[in-house]
Amino acid sequence: MKIYDTLTAEKREFIPLHEGRVGMYVCGPTTYDYAHIGHARPAIIFDMLRRFFEYKGYDVVLISNITDVDDKIINRAKEKDAEPIEMAHYYAREYLKDMDALRVRRANIIPKATRHIEEIIELVKTLVNKGYAYESGGDVYFSVEKFRDYGKLSHRKPEEMLAGARVEVSDKKRNPLDFALWKAAKPGEPSWMSPWGPGRPGWHIECSAMSMNYLGPTLDIHGGGADLIFPHHENEIAQSEAASGKVFARYWMHVGLVRFEEEKMSKSIGNVFLIRDLLKKYPPEAVRIMYINAHYRKPFDFSEKNLEDSRKLMEKIWSVYLSLKKSARCGVATDNTKNLVDKTRKEIITALEDDFNTREAIRHYLEFINKVRDAKDEDAFLAIEFLEEMDYIFDILPRGTTENLEENLIKLLLRIRERARKNKDFGTADWIREELKKLGIKVEDTKDGPRWVKL
Ligand SMILES: [Zn+2]
Repeated sequence: MKIYDTLTAEKREFIPLHEGRVGMYVCGPTTYDYAHIGHARPAIIFDMLRRFFEYKGYDVVLISNITDVDDKIINRAKEKDAEPIEMAHYYAREYLKDMDALRVRRANIIPKATRHIEEIIELVKTLVNKGYAYESGGDVYFSVEKFRDYGKLSHRKPEEMLAGARVEVSDKKRNPLDFALWKAAKPGEPSWMSPWGPGRPGWHIECSAMSMNYLGPTLDIHGGGADLIFPHHENEIAQSEAASGKVFARYWMHVGLVRFEEEKMSKSIGNVFLIRDLLKKYPPEAVRIMYINAHYRKPFDFSEKNLEDSRKLMEKIWSVYLSLKKSARCGVATDNTKNLVDKTRKEIITALEDDFNTREAIRHYLEFINKVRDAKDEDAFLAIEFLEEMDYIFDILPRGTTENLEENLIKLLLRIRERARKNKDFGTADWIREELKKLGIKVEDTKDGPRWVKL
């Protein structure tokens, strides 16, 4: 498997630190509002990458944090006259609900900054003791001059970094690029006691503290949106490597920004598409297909037309899948179909192993859909098996339709009836049969077990 590593700026063969295992850390959201369609992209992509590693037989540990204390949270809470951390936790729960709706599997651990203050303070202490950080008026700053490799991830020179986004101005800093590890508490802000007085963590330090806490000093893949490369990830590298003296992340993967009409998606220009609003109009599988059908590293221009087109693709996939289900029969497929399945599987895996090229993978998937649309009997059966195998990665097929649910519930009732009969509880067994009959379902007991027909 080859992965494009932002740090070396090239595709590199993926070799995990421990054979057969993958430790991934993906920066999650700062929760001060509901999640929008831009948040869905890295969540879907990194979950899918984790599924692909699992499909290939790796043991994956995925950690994805939630920033629950930050200037943005504090400011929003002030506007709403809310308690900042309570508000952040409310939006964190809503974020996870939205991601559940998009079929994003939850990370193994979803740590919150405020639950790791101790580890954060320990890390800041280490950096101060090693001479990489200094205290200034109750704040603690990381001194970028002390870390020789500062700028290695974003490939920027100090002048360029100064012009970069989110560099905070403060006269407490020795160098304008220095960044806060710890911020002295202002009146009315949430704060914790520390060796430097009451305060709260800076944004960057939480990811270093939590990732090293759960995955050790070196993780395999560090991921996030491309907007995090500078300064957030640059700062994470500096803090972590200065503290541990070890390589922090073996591979840096960044998902392209979601743009709206060529602009970076930003609340200030008011182009927010909340996931919960979009899901009232579009199925979650269409959102997944929309992002699968684009290269993860490229910026994505979001439009409703794009989502509409993805819905059409989804409907095509579903209609073939459901019609195959109707004509399928268990048994041995023809060599033709067997070969087609083997060839498509190889094509899809090859595409995903080439820097997780889901766009190329879904192209082969759709070619397959076109070729098997009229398959019958055993061929249809094999085609369904293959689509369901691929769904471990993509998760775009319909989930238990109502028709299946009805059937499954009837089967469940019959199993309960069988259990009652075994326990010689014939009263319950007969009662279940009578009740089913009232619903128009006739149960017959044969030597092969119970059969049922709709009357
Ligand atoms: Zn982070």
